[in-house]
Amino acid sequence: MIVAVDGPAASGKGTLGKRLAAELGLRFLDTGVLYRAVGLKVVRDGGDLDDGEAAAAVARSLDPDSLDDPDLRGDEAAEAASRVSSVPAVRAALLDYQRRFAATPPGAVLDGRDIGTVVCPEADHKLFVTADVEVRAERRYKELQGRGTDVIYAQILRDLRTRDERDSRRAVAPLVPADDAFILDTSTLTADEAFERAYAHIVGGGPRRRTRTETF
Ligand code: C5P
Repeated sequence: MIVAVDGPAASGKGTLGKRLAAELGLRFLDTGVLYRAVGLKVVRDGGDLDDGEAAAAVARSLDPDSLDDPDLRGDEAAEAASRVSSVPAVRAALLDYQRRFAATPPGAVLDGRDIGTVVCPEADHKLFVTADVEVRAERRYKELQGRGTDVIYAQILRDLRTRDERDSRRAVAPLVPADDAFILDTSTLTADEAFERAYAHIVGGGPRRRTRTETF
């Protein structure tokens, strides 16, 4: 079984995707880490994030099985990822790995932006996880504060808006729900509630070829 979990940053899709994978006995891939690794390497090599060819070369030589650098979770990597991810050759270089991961038994949950639309358009289930940008900024703010990082809420909100805008407007594989995605707005949901709804949708075999929006 392949489950696509797409949505904007800090929507709760990572937490949800990991839990779904554990409960369904599937493997889990956070595809954002691939783009973060490319972006961070370009920065560390002193490269230019607007140089698409340089970013594509990094993507082609990436070893996706060895991405455990904790800096990949940071804001610098997120910002760099969002810039290199608009380069078509970068996306193309990372496509095969994602598709092979998804196709390897027993199947997988993939979390990203374009899993249901581009990487695995034939996924058995597609979830589009979203939340109001202010709610997402608040969540990210608390998460970073909890880790002892000095952060400013307004800055986080601004960064999320910039990334949303860039991810949604890019020409290749933009952040849009697949036509047949189940849209899960987590603005007023706890992580447990979001999981319950997603799980019920999957095991209950909700309709696949129609977009359903749930409001809470
Ligand atoms: O999900 P995460 O915040 O780690 O993603 C970082 C950036 O990588 C996103 O803002 C997006 O630009 C890019 N990305 C993408 N396609 C994916 C996953 C991430 O373009 N499937």
